[in-house]
Amino acid sequence: MERRLFIKNTALAGGMMAMSPILSNLNSFGENDFPLMDLHVHLTNNFNIKDVLSIAKKTKVQFGIMVNPGYGVNDDASLLNFVDYLRPYPVYIGLQPMSPGWSKDFTSKSLSQVDYILMDSQTVPNGNGYGETLRIWNFDTYVDDPDKFMEIYMAHNLEVLNNSEPLTIFGWPLFLPVCIARDYYSLWTKERMQQIISAAKKRNLAIEINDMSHTPHEAFINMAKEQGLKFTFGSDTRDQKAGRLDYCKYIAKKCNLKRDDFFFPKRIIKKS
Ligand SMILES: [Zn+2]
Repeated sequence: MERRLFIKNTALAGGMMAMSPILSNLNSFGENDFPLMDLHVHLTNNFNIKDVLSIAKKTKVQFGIMVNPGYGVNDDASLLNFVDYLRPYPVYIGLQPMSPGWSKDFTSKSLSQVDYILMDSQTVPNGNGYGETLRIWNFDTYVDDPDKFMEIYMAHNLEVLNNSEPLTIFGWPLFLPVCIARDYYSLWTKERMQQIISAAKKRNLAIEINDMSHTPHEAFINMAKEQGLKFTFGSDTRDQKAGRLDYCKYIAKKCNLKRDDFFFPKRIIKKS
């Protein structure tokens, strides 16, 4: 899918909502005792904060709104604008950088204003024998040699995970380009999964269970859970699909995840 621009007009289109000043540390847990949070939602010109809040009201899902550096947020000033705009609303605020090296454009002071930073490994430089930068969410991602791709992809995953830049959540874990996705269970060997879990564990990163891609799968979640990693639910949506979380809820139930298995942003937000 395409990563859309966060357009300033979104702020205007959203309008201001009257908030009741009730302080509450989230959270709707539902019958299975895991938090109904979708920490990975983007705003667009056609999907604004009002739309998100209306879904939240209907579903009791707690949302986190993300923005990608380079797409409307390029420096401290634009990041703080984004934060200031969302602060009055009962949502978390997250940053989703796409490539290592991103943090040089921001001070740690401005980065401390967001609730979490999520990064995935979907932008793979030199990802095939043609020297192309692969954006593996695109269905036409070209993989010439699956084994070679996996080597490059693993190295890129580890680069994202081991990076010294700030990071809270590892997004889209284990996602594969569509042309090799049918081989998911053989390509994701136990050894490769363990490398990813160990790297995430070393930095105490949370693992996103991604609703759009249906990743990661049960075996990975169980391995990560046994080793004490926390999880988040994320849809990476920018439309009415936000907060559905059907895959997340299904697999969390199957893996018996409970509230202690989840990452919660620290900030106490005002709930309407
Ligand atoms: Zn995203």
